[in-house]
Amino acid sequence: MKTKEPEQKNNFDVAIVGGGMAGLVLACLLGQSGFSVCVADAEDPRHFAIPSGRTVALMGGSIDIIKATGIWPNIINDICPLDVLRIIDDSAGHVSPLRIDFKPEDIGRSSFGYNIPHHVLKPALIQRLKAMGNISYLPKTSVSHIAVSPARVTLTTDNGIFTARLVIGTDGKKSIVRQAAQIELDKKSYGQTAMTCLIRHTRPHHNTSAEHHRPGGPFTYVPLPGNISSIVWVEKDEDIPAYLSLKKQDLERAIQDRSLDALGRVTLMTDPQSWPLVTLTAQKLIAPRIALAGEAAHAFSPIGAQGLNLSLRDVAVLAEILTDSARLGEDIGDLLVLSRYQSRRQTDIQTRTWGVNNLNRMVSNDTEFLRGLRRTGLKTLARFPTLRQVMMKEGLSPLTGHIRLMQESAL
Ligand SMILES: Cc1cc2nc3c(=O)[nH]c(=O)nc-3n(C[C@H](O)[C@H](O)[C@H](O)COP(=O)(O)OP(=O)(O)OC[C@H]3O[C@@H](n4cnc5c(N)ncnc54)[C@H](O)[C@@H]3O)c2cc1C
Repeated sequence: MKTKEPEQKNNFDVAIVGGGMAGLVLACLLGQSGFSVCVADAEDPRHFAIPSGRTVALMGGSIDIIKATGIWPNIINDICPLDVLRIIDDSAGHVSPLRIDFKPEDIGRSSFGYNIPHHVLKPALIQRLKAMGNISYLPKTSVSHIAVSPARVTLTTDNGIFTARLVIGTDGKKSIVRQAAQIELDKKSYGQTAMTCLIRHTRPHHNTSAEHHRPGGPFTYVPLPGNISSIVWVEKDEDIPAYLSLKKQDLERAIQDRSLDALGRVTLMTDPQSWPLVTLTAQKLIAPRIALAGEAAHAFSPIGAQGLNLSLRDVAVLAEILTDSARLGEDIGDLLVLSRYQSRRQTDIQTRTWGVNNLNRMVSNDTEFLRGLRRTGLKTLARFPTLRQVMMKEGLSPLTGHIRLMQESAL
């Protein structure tokens, strides 16, 4: 679909600020719908292809959204299916750990989703964008000012001035788009930091992702092709420097101990990196000619691997609404059009944030009462398959209403 406005250099239908994974997927979807789009990202994309230790576990419908971008054949050999999701309560040192396995066949699926390295996903999305004639991908381009007028938005960047009918902020936690829209923020530190790295190990992982619940925070390994896994290890802020200053072999030993030797002997493939964790919710998703998506709108702990899954639902809904609106000849930056996006996304964002924050509080706590509650909860899940099925289905297909791309339909 071609929009009606005459195309001029530096004038676009949509300007996306922030080319992280949310912004890149959104640009692919909008490009395929025929919009002229510019994506401004502050970073140098040459860094994206370097293995960083960061991966993202994407579940069920999120995979359908990634497939809709057209990159699937280019990434399939470098990603790993998630065939078992294991939760281990490892919080009561004196009692043996409690373990429960969730299996996709119990809900009629062959896998829960896939674990995808950032260094695989981002370059593939950028390659796809570059192949589209209606997308201008502007790396190393920082947006410093955003001015909204009744008909257009003007972006000032260190690579020139751009205008668009709509600006979408996928520019992460410190979003300049959110600030320009004067959208207030609820933000709180968890007092926890995540450490990430890639490891090679001697025993096979059998496509299993295991989340160990411990008082400092969850310790998770997530499978990659071969005997390789990514680690997300959350601890209290004050304990992080001691872990990061460990000698390589001591850190490998610590990871081996934390994983209860399930993976055999561990070798570090990347240096550990640390990520301070905050929970953040923007009070609104829209303003005239402005919309927010991804971590510019919401962020939380990596426990349960929900963050980008939630963001992909934002971008799938936004692409759907904008595509419909252009087909109807509406102004895509109009608040009435954007309010459809806000009303379709609010409940999912609020319930997911609430759920993740409560799970994190419940897990990262060492009181006798909560420890007992955790173990009782896991035992109950182990005994009642129907309860497990309900939990798995909600994890894979949250109650978000009909999202076309998650039902394998076209935009
Ligand atoms: C340790 C860890 C593990 C995780 N694991 C998972 C998981 O398994 N599954 C899952 O679903 N989620 C996971 N998440 C969450 C997921 O990684 C994030 O939700 C996702 O990376 C955020 O993507 P984004 O595109 O919204 O933001 P970002 O990745 O922060 O991208 C924002 C981009 O905007 C750019 N930018 C910022 N300001 C400007 C500006 N002024 N001008 C131009 N560009 C700008 C930045 O350079 C950046 O490239 C995890 C998070 C952590 C911390």
